[in-house]
Amino acid sequence: MLAGANADLILHNGKIVTLDRGESVAQAVAFQNGRIAAVGTDRDVLARERGSRTRVIDLGGKMVLPGLCDAHVHTLEAGLSEFRAKLPQLDSIGAIQAYIRARAKTARKGEWIVVPRTLPPRLKEMRMPTREDLDIDRDHPVALDASYVWSANSMALKLSGITRQTPNPPGGEIVKGPDGEPNGILRNAHQLLVGAHQSVAFSEDEKLRAIEQMLRLYAAAGLTAVGDRLVTPEDAALFEKLGQQDRLAVRVVLTWRPDAQRPIEDIEREIGASQWTTNRGSERLKFGSFKVTVDGGQSVGTAYQRMPYGPFGRQLYGLSDPDARGTLFVDAGKLYRIYSAARAKGWQLTAHVQGGSAIDTLLDVFERLDREKPIAEMRNHVMHGSFLSEDALGRMKRMGVALDAQPGWLYFDVPALEQVFGADKMRWFFPLKSVIDAGIPVAGGSDHMIGHDKNGALNPYNPFFNMWMCITRRMRNGETFYPQERITRGQALRMYTAGPAWLQFSEETRGSLEAGKLADAVVIDRNFLTCPEDEIRAIEPLMTIVGGSIVYDRR
Ligand SMILES: [Zn+2]
Repeated sequence: MLAGANADLILHNGKIVTLDRGESVAQAVAFQNGRIAAVGTDRDVLARERGSRTRVIDLGGKMVLPGLCDAHVHTLEAGLSEFRAKLPQLDSIGAIQAYIRARAKTARKGEWIVVPRTLPPRLKEMRMPTREDLDIDRDHPVALDASYVWSANSMALKLSGITRQTPNPPGGEIVKGPDGEPNGILRNAHQLLVGAHQSVAFSEDEKLRAIEQMLRLYAAAGLTAVGDRLVTPEDAALFEKLGQQDRLAVRVVLTWRPDAQRPIEDIEREIGASQWTTNRGSERLKFGSFKVTVDGGQSVGTAYQRMPYGPFGRQLYGLSDPDARGTLFVDAGKLYRIYSAARAKGWQLTAHVQGGSAIDTLLDVFERLDREKPIAEMRNHVMHGSFLSEDALGRMKRMGVALDAQPGWLYFDVPALEQVFGADKMRWFFPLKSVIDAGIPVAGGSDHMIGHDKNGALNPYNPFFNMWMCITRRMRNGETFYPQERITRGQALRMYTAGPAWLQFSEETRGSLEAGKLADAVVIDRNFLTCPEDEIRAIEPLMTIVGGSIVYDRR
């Protein structure tokens, strides 16, 4: 014991994966005042850092990773989704019908039954449920939430006054069957369902507790930081309050997304008046990027594609037009003006883009901004970017544009998307090895939005499941999707450590276990680097440490 040495916590007799420049694996790590004081051999660290008040934990050979970060979550939405009641796991139309039958037993006559968020590519039948599927109950109006697309039963359509004569709302469609009658599917038109959207009111205190609880669950999954990808001013105030009350178990980086559907002058005024910008805040809670939602989603046939959804699009998404390519919510001209206003305030820029044409539109706008003044230092990024292309990768590389990728979608969505587009057109669907080989910075994120269970949620936020996907690309049908795009364990680990740290302008303080960085780490139950490949997804955290404090302890 050295005089003056006084680490708060030392972990020793372990395998410390440092992710430092030399990729070294150490035996011990010492934390002090929320930072890493030393990393090295058991002998050195214990001899130099152990003081009279130091807590010392023998890891018994267990592995320690730098704190993991999920770059893309929706904390409040997910936290509230099961705040009052557990959600069902609906993976088939039969399961949806069973859910409706069960709800019908207890619901008052005429009360709405809303099937919680269910995405058709993830159903066994790989098709969008229609009015007939939901007509198994005729005493209640029934609606199914598939995000931008909803489905309604006959009673729901009748109560809402939706008939074959009802005009389509702007940008939306009341889908008709072969007989010309509405088949129940409402594309960007669910606002027509009168009474289905009784928003469940949560008090501010409940929202605070929902966020707090969700962040604790993230910590239990081994995450020490998350990128929250959609906050309004009200949401941001909730996070700030929790921060002041020391109730943020993990670090949070907020993405502001104003409503881009309003007139451009209103948006410009709001951006100009806002006090926020990238990096404002602390290491515990700060602002990250500025987001615009440019297109829809691949799960519901609204991602804006380079190619049509074709005949299978009818089955999967209820699309009536086989030439449909999806929806662009914001065109290049408007996006340029919004981004110009945000850039003037110092924001890092990103956009939700899933379809290829939406990606191309975003990159066109980035190029326009880049010609005015190089954008590389802004660390702008493509959010999702499911349908990349060789050309898109080249442009991203040239401008220094990064990627916020969702590897879990390979597992859940590709089996259905392959049927829509054919495997050839899916060549550049999250081509992670090509992205990394091109030198494009990449951060992994789940897009977790509904459900509390780390493996059962939509989308699962278990970082070990997501890293396993990057490494194996093995889908839920057992097939391996473009195996040449698999990446190594070390590369996958960087996608959940150094990658997000860089994207969040925190590479000086996070992403590796090196002296001087923040004391964020996770102890796991087996060897990430050498365990059998299929065990990677089953790895469980034993202890999660944020800022030197143990925020989760399973031992
Ligand atoms: Zn998202």
